[in-house]
Amino acid sequence: NISRFTAFAEEWFILDLAPKRSSLTGPSNGIIRILFSVVYVTILLWMIVQLPSNDGANHSDAKTQRDALLTIAALAASVLVPGIFRFLVLSAGAIVAGLLPLLQVIETFSLIWVLLMIVPGSTVAGYTCSFDGKVLPYKLNGLAVLFVTVAFYYGLCTAGWKDPTYLAAHFFDAERPVDAGYQRCLTRDQVLAAPKNENGDIEDLPALLAKLPVNKNTIWALEYFNGSFFNPRVFGVDVKMALYCLGAVMLQLNILSMAALHTVNNGGVTANAVTVYVFIFTWFLIEYSYYENVHLYTYDLFAEKIGAKLVFGCLGFYPYLYCIGGIVLTIYTPNTNSAYGPTFLVFYTGWFLTRGANMQKFFYKTDPASTTVFFGKVEQKVIPGSRILYSGFWGVSRHVNYLGEIIQGVALALPGFLVLYSTEPFWLCLVPWIYPLYYVCLFIPRERDDNEICRKKYGKAWDEYCEKVPYRIVPYIY
Ligand code: NDP
Repeated sequence: NISRFTAFAEEWFILDLAPKRSSLTGPSNGIIRILFSVVYVTILLWMIVQLPSNDGANHSDAKTQRDALLTIAALAASVLVPGIFRFLVLSAGAIVAGLLPLLQVIETFSLIWVLLMIVPGSTVAGYTCSFDGKVLPYKLNGLAVLFVTVAFYYGLCTAGWKDPTYLAAHFFDAERPVDAGYQRCLTRDQVLAAPKNENGDIEDLPALLAKLPVNKNTIWALEYFNGSFFNPRVFGVDVKMALYCLGAVMLQLNILSMAALHTVNNGGVTANAVTVYVFIFTWFLIEYSYYENVHLYTYDLFAEKIGAKLVFGCLGFYPYLYCIGGIVLTIYTPNTNSAYGPTFLVFYTGWFLTRGANMQKFFYKTDPASTTVFFGKVEQKVIPGSRILYSGFWGVSRHVNYLGEIIQGVALALPGFLVLYSTEPFWLCLVPWIYPLYYVCLFIPRERDDNEICRKKYGKAWDEYCEKVPYRIVPYIY
């Protein structure tokens, strides 16, 4: 079991390209590794060259559906093709068997994309705008897509056509496929605040665009990582929202499959730690999909572009790394009941902070005139002359929502940790903590990035906010 973890850790590094478990051993394995690396890098470079560039223009949208499609195809292929190659080499003796886990993932992603296109959903005005100042519409059907996908696979598994343990049993095989810049999208707030002419159009669009932070990405490697376009749409589906939805649904399927595999490995019994883990993670994903409209107002939407980082992040990283605390529960037979109390307590504390802060900001952005929220319990106070909240959750620390997210991550590490703690070497007990640790690494630079952007955008009002609310994430500590 330990070797499964170490193999996973080794394979995680994308430059470690050649197969460990290949039927080839000795010097031939070394040569294959080098050849494989050359092929991989060549394909990657070719993909980068294929990317439609935004020609260094500071602010541009994907001009045509073809541009958007090409970007997505090149990025998706650059993530998936090395994976396919890897499978081919990995299973020199059994190509088909090696490809199946990847095909399963492709099948699921394709299904989700089609569902995103056809499942009805309400269409709402987003917070982000195209660079000609038009508010972008978004179709919200993520929760329905999550339910339909899970129900679909549940049906197939019940009918005996699919094996519910498949994803978890091939977890390490499927997870093969492979910095944020300072640029930002135009948002509705900025468009609303801009002076208009008599036709209601923005008077001076270039001046408005000139105020946006820019990251030119003149180096194509950076363009490849950070992306070219903010809001491409393919067949009516917003690509960025789709990527987040693909990741969330795949993560849900992985977690359910892990529970199935655990139960099979555990003689037909589902241990409490697993029930708790599946329950809170399912809560996390359902509520995330339910509040899809709140997601439209986040950094993910106005500050991230479609690039390798996001494509790889949503397809190859987020559905796999996030459930690292669950993987241990499939490998080890849990023997503790103590997971219930602390896990629920910690999780819902985190949830209260993150959801509370996000909702308070969402209520303010969508209804700036209202003076109280949460049934009149919290006043909406803003720094005079700005749209910066400093009351309620936003008065505790400047990003208490990040603190809540980290606390939720801690809760999701607890069941695995408690199970391993009593029987396994200490270093192994640390594996589930990779997830909350990743959040710490994600949120510290993200908060600093956001702080700088907000300082540029809001000027003195932001300084005043920082004086009133001096803590970045953790009150009295950081
Ligand atoms: P925020 O929701 O904090 O968004 C930051 C933006 O909100 C700022 O750029 C600014 O934008 C506005 N803002 C900041 N402070 C204030 C204030 N005091 N009053 C009013 N507006 C303010 O961060 P994110 O978008 O990064 O995160 C959103 C949620 O998503 C969080 O809960 C986070 O934890 C979660 N998340 C989860 C991840 C995961 O993998 N599970 C990954 C990333 C995020 P403007 O004024 O321009 O509107």
